[in-house]
Amino acid sequence: MRRKIRLMLACAAMFLFPLTFNYLSPYVSIDGAMAGLVSGSLLVFALQFLSGIFLGRAWCAWACPVAGIAEIGRGVNDRRVNIKKLAAVRYAIFGVWFAALVGAFVLAGGIRGLDPLHLTEKIVSIDEPAKFVTYYFVLIALLALTFAVGRRGACHAICWMAPFLTAGELVGRALRVPQLKIRSEAEKCVSCGLCTKSCPMSIDVETEIKSGRVKSLACIRCGACADCCPKRILRFACGEAKDNVIYGKSVY
Ligand code: SF4
Ligand code: SF4
Ligand code: SF4
Repeated sequence: MRRKIRLMLACAAMFLFPLTFNYLSPYVSIDGAMAGLVSGSLLVFALQFLSGIFLGRAWCAWACPVAGIAEIGRGVNDRRVNIKKLAAVRYAIFGVWFAALVGAFVLAGGIRGLDPLHLTEKIVSIDEPAKFVTYYFVLIALLALTFAVGRRGACHAICWMAPFLTAGELVGRALRVPQLKIRSEAEKCVSCGLCTKSCPMSIDVETEIKSGRVKSLACIRCGACADCCPKRILRFACGEAKDNVIYGKSVY
């Protein structure tokens, strides 16, 4: 049931992508910054950061338009990927983009205002045929990358939003905010490996849960591991603040 709801939400987000495209665009942020404006996409990135404090990367499983694309990609190439290597690529790309963003604001003389509808005056992002060219180019690029790299390849390799979610999660851990996470009763595990096999983010769940919870910053709280566990020993939980001390230390 949970899986069905998640897939339905991911598909709905994917079909709404022509509407939301600009609000998630790294280009629109830079364009706004060049005029000293905080655009809609930058506001969304800020909200993602805030959501990360409490929900980690749940956005990635339940609300992101790319989640639907990633699920389609799994039908073609479902190979598990090397999270660390791809994260290095992603952070290198993010670093360049972030530096360009800051540089654009500096050249514009700082932040001069808010413009949530920057480049999206009609509220709908893809509002004329010419813009569909850009839209389909991005869709094809995301799909091609996922086909080429494997499970959620585009998410691991190039996503410009994940660092905001991850930063929020790290801040939440540092502040010891109770966060949504996957907990386990590790002593009842029979090491069948199904959780690791099912994880869309290629996390070694079987090893992670030995500490009592999934600690990986790649976890998107999709619940696939909990749904497939034959012993039903994985579950969503909102950790108490004292957990986050241990939780945080084991990751930094
Ligand atoms: S990693 Fe990025 S593209 Fe992938 S689901 Fe998360 S926010 Fe969306
Ligand atoms: S560890 Fe579980 S909840 Fe986290 S991404 Fe993997 S399958 Fe989803
Ligand atoms: S699916 Fe459940 S029983 Fe199997 S390895 Fe994972 S946690 Fe252990």
